[in-house]
Formats: sequence, structure tokens, C-alpha cells
Amino acid sequence: MRIVVLPGDGIGPEITAATLTVLRAASEQYALNINLEEHPVGHASLEKFGATVRPGLLEIVRSADGLILGPTATADFRDENKGEVNPSKFFRKSLDLFANLRPARTYGGSPDRFGAFDLVVVRENTEGFYADRNMEQGNSELLVTPDVVISLRRITRRCCERIAQTACKLAMRRRKHLTIVHKANVLKVGDGMFLEICREAARAYPELVVEDILVDAMMAHVVRQPQRFDVVVATNMFGDILSDLTAELSGSLGLGGSLNVGADYAMAQAAHGSAPDIAGRDLANPISLILSAALLLAWHGERCGEARFQSAAHGIENAIAIAIQNGRVTRDVGGNLGTEATAQAIARILRSDAGACS
Ligand code: ATP
Repeated sequence: MRIVVLPGDGIGPEITAATLTVLRAASEQYALNINLEEHPVGHASLEKFGATVRPGLLEIVRSADGLILGPTATADFRDENKGEVNPSKFFRKSLDLFANLRPARTYGGSPDRFGAFDLVVVRENTEGFYADRNMEQGNSELLVTPDVVISLRRITRRCCERIAQTACKLAMRRRKHLTIVHKANVLKVGDGMFLEICREAARAYPELVVEDILVDAMMAHVVRQPQRFDVVVATNMFGDILSDLTAELSGSLGLGGSLNVGADYAMAQAAHGSAPDIAGRDLANPISLILSAALLLAWHGERCGEARFQSAAHGIENAIAIAIQNGRVTRDVGGNLGTEATAQAIARILRSDAGACS
């Protein structure tokens, strides 16, 4: 498996290096023969090549079996004419990675203030309120006068249908419970269509238990009783906001894994941003990106029919659970280790655990 690795900005390089430590251990332990190929992106690429995503990088990514993108300093990149493209948007759009899967679960051992739970937010990833990607050309935030802004949201039948299908299929492989999150009482046309299409898709799976909840009420429900949820489907921005909340409820934003999936490609990415406030201080929790990389392995294994990649993904998740339970993790989840030390602890557990299982 050839994986292109783009470390990014802020805590990106630290958590990416830590992720590679775990991936190398998994590759050895499960005979995955993973080939990791690093390229700069974000500020490092802007300095070297004059563009946050340099020409030719997309082709390199297309020719690989998967992509790991560290968080990038999206707020710094304002002018595409100066090469300042948002790398996350660029790859999601160019590779048509329409589904963003964001699991959140408790592990026991981390500060879980809301009881044990295990859910996945399935977020539409290509349209909605994202002004930098919901237009063929230009940007959908319009400065009408210096004091008036109009922001447009795009909702299409095709994107609703494919995210609804993804969510239903995932729910069928889990606990068969689907929650549709929307604001169809206000956004009657756009979210009305999203809701109706999700319901319609779910009708093809009679075993699925389906409910829908207004996005504002969902914030209260998920804090009150996160264990009530299994698969939660939402439009782009609602899913983004909700999944930061569910990651934090699971113990820390630093536990938020995320896989962006399309028909032919997948990109592992942490659910959080570049966290400049803790960059370079050995405080960043690498588990978000490690989990995302595990999701990428599982995706590849399913695609190629190679079960050892799925076993490796399970092994990594298991090792993370043990590391958290034993406090061999960063401060945000109750430990006292640094970023790389956390990865090494996970890699050690992975080696011993996989050794014990084989
Ligand atoms: P960006 O502008 O790139 O989105 P941000 O700091 O605004 O960066 P996040 O990176 O999502 O947004 O961080 C939000 C908060 O969560 C910050 O206080 C940060 O320190 C914390 N945080 C984010 N990721 C991690 C992590 N991996 N480990 C520990 N804390 C984290």
C-alpha cells in the first residue's frame, strides 16, 4: 500500500510523525508492506514552491492508494491567486471525497463525563455552506456593500442521495440506528430535501430504526445521552460542528478521527485544526490522526479484499484503547506523555497485542 503523507502546519508535523511511528509498527506486525511517501503542503510548500499545494501533487496523490493530510493553517490562506489554496478543500473537491466519517467513542480510562458511547457522524463533504467549494467558479460569500454579506448554501439531490446511502449502509453494519440531523423547520427547501432523501434512502433498509432531530435540539440530546446514537447523518457545516462536540464528549478533540471517502480515493485527516496554541510544545494528542490512518487502512483492506489491513486497523484501535486505559497518553486525555511518546506507547502495545493474537 502506497500512502502519500502531507504533514501540514501547526501541530500537523508532530502528530503526523507520531502517526507514521504507529503505521510502521502496524506494517511490520501485520505484513502490510506500507510505503510512506512524504511531501510538503501548506506553509512549508508555500515557502518552497510558492503554492500551498504545488503543481503535480494531485497526480502523485491520485497514483497512490491513500492520503494522510495533517491539519493546515487554513485561516492563513486567503488568496488563491498567490498560491494560497486551502489543502483540505483542494483534495476533498479534486478527489470528490463526498463522505466524511467521524467516529467518536469512549475508551474507559479517559475522562468520560457523559457515560460510554460509540457513534459515527457521517458528514456531507462537498457542498453546503462552504463558500470555497460549493461553486464551480468563484466564492459563494458575497460582499454586497462594506456592511452587507450574503453567504450561499448549496444542497443538491445527488449529494444528498450519496451521503444518505453511505450513512444507511454504515448503520446496517453497526447497530442499525440512523439519526438525520437537519434544520428543515427553517431551511425548509434545502434541509427539507436533505431530510426527505435520507428518509427515502432508509426505506430500502426495513431493519433500520430511523429518527430525525433538529440540529439545535441535537446539541442537547447528544450531551445529555450520547449513547442513544449510532450513525448520525448531517449536511456539511452541521456535521462539522456536531463532530467536534462528539469528539470532545469522548474525552478530547484530540481523539477525533476522520476519513474523507469518495468512490476511488480516501484521505485520512484529524477532525481538529492545526492548534497553533500548542504547536511545538509536545502537547498535541496524535490519536486523532492515528485513528484516521487506521480508518484508511480499513478502507483499503475492504476495497482490495485484504483482511490483514482491517485486522491492523482493529489492532491500532485496540492499542489506543489500552494506552488510554493505562494513562500512556497526552495530558488532554489524562496522561502525562508527549506526542511521540504516546505514539511509541501505542506502537509497543500494538506489537505485543498483535504478537499475542497471531
Ligand atoms: P485551526 O485554525 O487550524 O482550525 P484552531 O486552534 O482554531 O486551529 P483546533 O486546532 O481545532 O482549532 O483547536 C481547538 C482547540 O482544541 C485548541 O485549544 C487546541 O489546543 C485543542 N486541540 C486541537 N487539537 C488537539 C490535539 N490533537 N491535542 C490536544 N489539543 C488539541
